[in-house]
Amino acid sequence: MKLILLGAPGAGKGTQAEKICDKYGIPAISTGNIIRAALKNGTEMGLKAKSYMEAGQLVPDEVVIGIIKDRLVESDCENGFILDGFPRTIPQAEALESMGVAIDKVVDIEVPDEKITARMSGRRVCAKCGASYHLLYKLPKTAGICDACGGELVQRKDDAPETVQARLAEYHEMTEPLKDFYAKLGKLKIVHGQEEVADTTKLVFAALED
Ligand code: ADP
Ligand code: ZN
Repeated sequence: MKLILLGAPGAGKGTQAEKICDKYGIPAISTGNIIRAALKNGTEMGLKAKSYMEAGQLVPDEVVIGIIKDRLVESDCENGFILDGFPRTIPQAEALESMGVAIDKVVDIEVPDEKITARMSGRRVCAKCGASYHLLYKLPKTAGICDACGGELVQRKDDAPETVQARLAEYHEMTEPLKDFYAKLGKLKIVHGQEEVADTTKLVFAALED
C-alpha cells in the first residue's frame, strides 16, 4: 500500500504515520525527520535546508524531491510506504507522478488552525534521537526525558508561536491545493482530527479500509 498523509503542520500526521506503520508493516517516511537528521549531521543538504526550515518556510522542491527519490528506492519500500510531509506542493506531487509512483490513497487529517496553534506549543522532540512527544497527548514516562534513548526533550525552533503562524500560512497557500489535486484523481479521504489520538487513528484505519 502506497499512502500519503496530508494535513497542516501539527495536525498529527507523524503520530498517525507511526500507527499505520505498526499495523501494516510499511515504513513511515517523514521528509521533516530526514531533513532534521541531515541538519544535525551537518551534511550539505542539511545546510541548504537549515535557513528555510528554521524560518518555517518550505525547503525548495528540488531538495525534497531528491530526498524522496533516494529514499523510495530503498528495499524496505518494496511493499509500500507512508509519506508523511511529502508532497507539500503541486510540483512535488507531479514529481511523484513522473517517478511512476502509484499512490493508492491520500488521507487528509483536518484540524482547524486555532487548535493547531494550541497543540504546537505542547510539542517536544528528543534532542538526541528526534522522537516526538506532546505535553498533553503523548507524555514521556519521565518528564523532559526521551523514553527511547534518555535524551533531553526540547521544543523545535520552528514550533515557536511566530513560526507556527508562518507555517500555517504556507500550508494554506502551497499545500492545501493538493487536496483538489488528489480529489480529482479519486484518491482523497478526509479524516477529522479528534481530541484523542486513538479516535483519530480509528478514523484513519477506516479510511484506509474503505
Ligand atoms: P510537521 O511535523 O509540523 O508537519 P515536518 O517535520 O514535516 O513538520 O517539517 C518541518 C519543516 O521541514 C517544514 O516546515 C519545511 O521547512 C521542511 N519540509 C519538510 N517536508 C517538506 C516538503 N515536502 N517540502 C518542503 N519543505 C519540507
Ligand atoms: Zn531520544
